[in-house]
Amino acid sequence: MVKLKPVLGIIGGGQLGSMLATAAKKLKIKTIILSDDPKAPAKNFCDKIIVSEYNKQKTIEDFASKVDVITFEFENIPFKVLEHISKLKPVFPKPSINQIVQNRFTEKKFINNTGIKTTNYALIRNQSDISNNEDLFPGLLKTCTLGYDGKGQFVLKNKEEASELKIEFDKEYILEKKVNLKKEISVVITRFLNNDFVIYEPIENLHVNQILNRSIIPANVSKDIFEKAQQQAKLIAEELDYIGTMCVEYFIDEKNNLLVNEIAPRVHNSGHLTINTHNVSQFENHIRAVCDLEKRELKKICNAEMINVIGADIKNYRGKSYFKNEFFFDYLKSEIKEKRKMGHLTIVKL
Ligand code: AMP
Repeated sequence: MVKLKPVLGIIGGGQLGSMLATAAKKLKIKTIILSDDPKAPAKNFCDKIIVSEYNKQKTIEDFASKVDVITFEFENIPFKVLEHISKLKPVFPKPSINQIVQNRFTEKKFINNTGIKTTNYALIRNQSDISNNEDLFPGLLKTCTLGYDGKGQFVLKNKEEASELKIEFDKEYILEKKVNLKKEISVVITRFLNNDFVIYEPIENLHVNQILNRSIIPANVSKDIFEKAQQQAKLIAEELDYIGTMCVEYFIDEKNNLLVNEIAPRVHNSGHLTINTHNVSQFENHIRAVCDLEKRELKKICNAEMINVIGADIKNYRGKSYFKNEFFFDYLKSEIKEKRKMGHLTIVKL
């Protein structure tokens, strides 16, 4: 009997949604995107877009009724919304994973419970929690929820600098010890419904102002770090009973300690170069996993470097001609904003 291909619902209409929809199209899978932004760039790549706030029950039910399986391109969808949707149609990865990962404190606690190291940290609810954790300075104070790309983060030398911020503590924070970074790497892994998986080699990441600037494959790391990072990513995916593509971001400190920074329960910016470096990209693998398609053996084709194009810099990339080994992706965002990811360029190195 021929298995019918499902219609895939994707929550979120940014560049990750666009690249997921493009990968789905290649596999002849139809995509319907739910986005709260009428100008969502992914509308240029999917089969249909439904524009609605994420908490509108009627539209969510309409969206769920039109698809067979649902995934998402960003992890900050309120847990209650995702849980409601999962009662209507299967959602991969499962919403309980988001509940853990959406909050930096529960995320780190989960990672440590698996025996994997993170930077030292403490939950901060008030000024005295800061005073009681002086050993964490110099450190980074981060909101527990909703911060990314350096948003909601303060780099602090000492507790005096923390009190100068005059934080109202209307939400929870964590204070993380600042790591003397030797390097940052990430590992992208896709886990399938039959518990099988494919894993990419570590990717080296360079950040500027806490935003990813470049990703390089291969990462210049020892064999020991290479293997340990892959083993830890696999263990995390298994412990979460994860289905789909996820990314584990790591710090390597001066003493070569491997520390998990965070888990992205979705396709990831550092994995964009897999479109060019591998026979199956992180996006196609995600579609294959959540739609229960066959797993293909992963093969590396070439090395590459990816450069993120941020803000107004996009003007320097549009309309330019490129060499044969250069692949420019314009996210087709309607508005240029400072610090906004507008596109990327992958340079293939043979
Ligand atoms: P995050 O949003 O937590 O992933 O942080 C973004 C970037 O800020 C990281 O990729 C690092 O470059 C830097 N960063 C965040 N936390 C720390 C830390 N505890 N020590 C050193 N650098 C950090």
